[in-house]
Amino acid sequence: MTKTSSLPQDTFLTHTGRNPSRYAGYVNPPIFRGSTILAESLEAWEAAQHSGNPYGNYGRFGSPTISAFEDAIAELEGGYRTQVFPSGLSACTHTLLALLEQGDHVLITDNVYGPTRSFADEILPRYGIRVDYFDPLIGDGIRQLIEPRTRVVYLESPGSQSFEVCDVPLLSEIAHAAGALVVIDNSWASPLYFKPFEHGADVSIQAATKYILGHSDALLGTVTSNVHAWDRLQKRFQQFGETAGPEDVYLGLRGLRTLGVRLRQHSESALSLTQAMSRHPAVMHVMYPALPDDPGHALWKRDFTGASGLFSFILGSEDRAVISRFFGALQHFGIGLSWGGFESLALPVGRPKRTASTWQYGGTLIRVHAGLENPQDLIKDMCNALDQAQACIEQASQQQDAA
Ligand SMILES: *Cc1c(COP(=O)(O)O)cnc(C)c1O
Repeated sequence: MTKTSSLPQDTFLTHTGRNPSRYAGYVNPPIFRGSTILAESLEAWEAAQHSGNPYGNYGRFGSPTISAFEDAIAELEGGYRTQVFPSGLSACTHTLLALLEQGDHVLITDNVYGPTRSFADEILPRYGIRVDYFDPLIGDGIRQLIEPRTRVVYLESPGSQSFEVCDVPLLSEIAHAAGALVVIDNSWASPLYFKPFEHGADVSIQAATKYILGHSDALLGTVTSNVHAWDRLQKRFQQFGETAGPEDVYLGLRGLRTLGVRLRQHSESALSLTQAMSRHPAVMHVMYPALPDDPGHALWKRDFTGASGLFSFILGSEDRAVISRFFGALQHFGIGLSWGGFESLALPVGRPKRTASTWQYGGTLIRVHAGLENPQDLIKDMCNALDQAQACIEQASQQQDAA
């Protein structure tokens, strides 16, 4: 097999997890389906239990397809080991359950992915785990929130829907000094644009459903950790019994082949779109850390090597007719959940839930994913929909003046 570590990322992505000489010359590895793995002898069976290779004796512990994908993600994130999960959310929830126990306290960023928040609010307390949220821009102030039983500080940067960038190295240093582990949901940047372990995280989660799979045709999650956290995670993960289907994992591996080139296009389109939208009168605010006047720009520039295609903006009205006109005018942006696929999306969010920080915007938050369509088509389409929204806003204010 080609030695893949230390290769430049794009080259690594084309070589990883392949072994043509082992599989009759085929470029791609086969998809292994299976539960039972037979041992050739009693001695081989016993050796499989003791070899330090937990993937040797049952389908639930992995397969060559799964290991190829997990090893590639571990390498890209810069961690020690990876475990695949059947969805991004399942990766988030099982990580929290694995690391926390009765009496523990967890600090979670206020802009965390909504379903992770709902799990933390409704499931963790049932196991005697206390949850507090913090302002993603808290910085040094997190010291005041850490308690003797704070075991995990859970980050997502940039955070869901509003894209604040947090200071991962600073928060990690403070968490570690207090004996807590740092978990980060790294889905926005993907492992290509943010290296969580170089910035202090102990565990990194990917909703691989998004950029890694990249085609909106399957769900997957990954959890990668450093050696220190892996000990605890691996045992719990085996007890939880989560697995992912071999076809989906294969699609994850296939998605990796084009991840670099896709992300560059998503990024370029998102940057042109956000620049054009920033100047539009119907847009109150654009949230995308790659823009020089974004409040998170300095941290993003310091810690990230790229920006993906997902951002939000505030449409300058909460009026249903305006929002409806905007979405009705879009031709290339589908209305739907998720992101990271080849297709552009727009999602009406409204007002995101915040309990530890204040949401300072009126208007309507809309999240946008810039897909792989021609960037000029996307800009034209978006600006046309914004023009229509603006016309609707002006109409309403004229009617108000007349009344
Ligand atoms: C989508 C998403 C998830 C969950 O991934 P699924 O595969 O849809 O379960 C987790 N975190 C973030 C930041 C996401 O955007």
